Amino acid sequence: MRYVISGAAGFIGSHLCDRLIKEGHQVLALDNLITGHQGNIQHLLGNPNFEYIKFDVCQPLKIPSIDKFPVHRVFHLASLASPVDYLSHPIETLESGSTGTRNMLELARKHDARFLLTSTSECYGDPLQHPQSETYWGNVNPVGLRSCYDESKRYAEALTMAYHRTYGTNTNIARIFNTYGPRMALNDGRVVPAFVDQALRGAKLTVFGDGSQTRSFCYVSDLVEGLLRLSESDEAYPVNLGNPVEMTIMQFANTIRAYFGDHLEIEHKPLPSDDPKVRRPDIGKAKRILNWEPRVPLDEGLKITIEYFQKVTTQNGAAPHSAMAENRTALEPVEVPSAS
Ligand code: UDP
Repeated sequence: MRYVISGAAGFIGSHLCDRLIKEGHQVLALDNLITGHQGNIQHLLGNPNFEYIKFDVCQPLKIPSIDKFPVHRVFHLASLASPVDYLSHPIETLESGSTGTRNMLELARKHDARFLLTSTSECYGDPLQHPQSETYWGNVNPVGLRSCYDESKRYAEALTMAYHRTYGTNTNIARIFNTYGPRMALNDGRVVPAFVDQALRGAKLTVFGDGSQTRSFCYVSDLVEGLLRLSESDEAYPVNLGNPVEMTIMQFANTIRAYFGDHLEIEHKPLPSDDPKVRRPDIGKAKRILNWEPRVPLDEGLKITIEYFQKVTTQNGAAPHSAMAENRTALEPVEVPSAS
């Protein structure tokens, strides 16, 4: 099948491309590299089934090579998914959720292709229901700092449902919970790369607030499997994809200390505004309709991730701990060990 993937040079997008190419599919990969790195897909560039175009999907999709052949699947992953990135680029974030989603939906409609939106657990905001199931409508501050991400994804979900209802487009919506693994940008501010980066530098682990807020971490190969299963189903309503094993951020910091050594100190920093206090997916629906559940335990996935970061920092020197995407050092491609 021929897939068009937006956000293909990002963390999850690049793993998805790897899997599709491994299975013999054709992939047309789009990315404007605002937060993605070409290094993440460099190893695929010589493959005749893989084409990469540096392109911003918020622009009209007038790309001749897309329309040369049929398109069977359109996956819209393009987004600024880390809080540090979307807080520093709120307008681009709103654009990729709105105009970007519309352009990708139009592409799917034109080709009669199936469309998959990668949405987010942020749709639940700071949730009042725990764990979060797909039937919960969320508790989002529409004008808070995080609203650029939360509301653009909620709009993207509404637009996807509107295409499904109005044009009969085959659509899927994945609500992705915290996911981690190799090729995350070491300096994107999310807690897994942030703690690993700090640990590698022997710096203090920055726990925001008292660290009692909870998250559940899903290894990227499990997530990719869930996305592909969802795209083979006829489920148009949202499906949670994430790992239901929940821990506090303080417990996570101690997991990192157990790996690197107790000499690592913890430094508390202010909790960002609207930071959700709890988050854990109810994956009952994914289990039921996709026969999917995560397989990679945290210690196993974390080991692979840490080894990846150790390797890239040795190759490139210490990555700068910068919030701005344009200040990032592009990481050279490295062989990513598979979890399976
Ligand atoms: N966090 C932290 N220290 C950091 C980065 C994040 O304590 O250096 C916390 C953050 O406040 C949040 C959790 O870790 O409660 C997960 O944050 P992340 O940015 O990874 O993603 P989020 O789940 O907020 O989208």
